[in-house]
Amino acid sequence: MVILVSNDDGIHSPGIQALADTLRTIADVYVIAPDRERSAASHALTLHKPLRLEKFGDNMYSVNGTPTDCINLGINGILNEKPDIVVSGINKGGNLGDDVTYSGTVSAAFEGTLLGVPSFAVSHVAESDFKFETSARIALYLALLIKENSLPPGVLLNVNVPNLDIKDIKGFKITRQGKRIYDENAIVEKVDPRGKKYYWIGGSRLSWEKTEDSDFAAIEEGMVSITPLRLDLTEYGAVKSLRIWESSLNKKIGI
Ligand code: MN
Repeated sequence: MVILVSNDDGIHSPGIQALADTLRTIADVYVIAPDRERSAASHALTLHKPLRLEKFGDNMYSVNGTPTDCINLGINGILNEKPDIVVSGINKGGNLGDDVTYSGTVSAAFEGTLLGVPSFAVSHVAESDFKFETSARIALYLALLIKENSLPPGVLLNVNVPNLDIKDIKGFKITRQGKRIYDENAIVEKVDPRGKKYYWIGGSRLSWEKTEDSDFAAIEEGMVSITPLRLDLTEYGAVKSLRIWESSLNKKIGI
């Protein structure tokens, strides 16, 4: 089995190293990761500057680009064969609820899925003292399951792991994407040494809506959250309910 590993914390992050070391026990692992931290890079693809590859060892490369660049380069250019699975992580910190749309970690798994490879993202929900070995072990179990059963087409998994030893994990839960409640004072305004204002985004993310079966709820219960996400972002309910707009818009252009 061939596994392509990437992340958004950069190639030197201990999370990606723990992941690659553990997956090497079951697969040929290629690591292609950004040369520096690119958290919150989302699904950005670099089109207007050259990408350079640096080799760090056997099947290990850094790229001066985004997580999406890494997966795209890996699958379309560097690997001699199509990987069986793409694994992104282990992210330092959770990717829960709305984080998914900003996350470079999750986007690397999106890119793998887009290119036809079963993919998942693993994030470790902690701020310090990361027990990455727990997430790495869980990634290994999932890789084996996916190898055996694959994933539905166009579907990737967003996996979040609580900061516990594996023996203390309360179980696995298939969840849905939750919703954060953002702090209204999340923008910090300051003044620089030359008297000019500057802003800093991303104050505290205090709480989340208490929805049943959400990724947040699973983590709070000490469980591993596995949220299936899909590439097709269409809201099918709204395709039906908004269809009545067609005729009034048509009228505007005389149809
Ligand atoms: Mn990150």
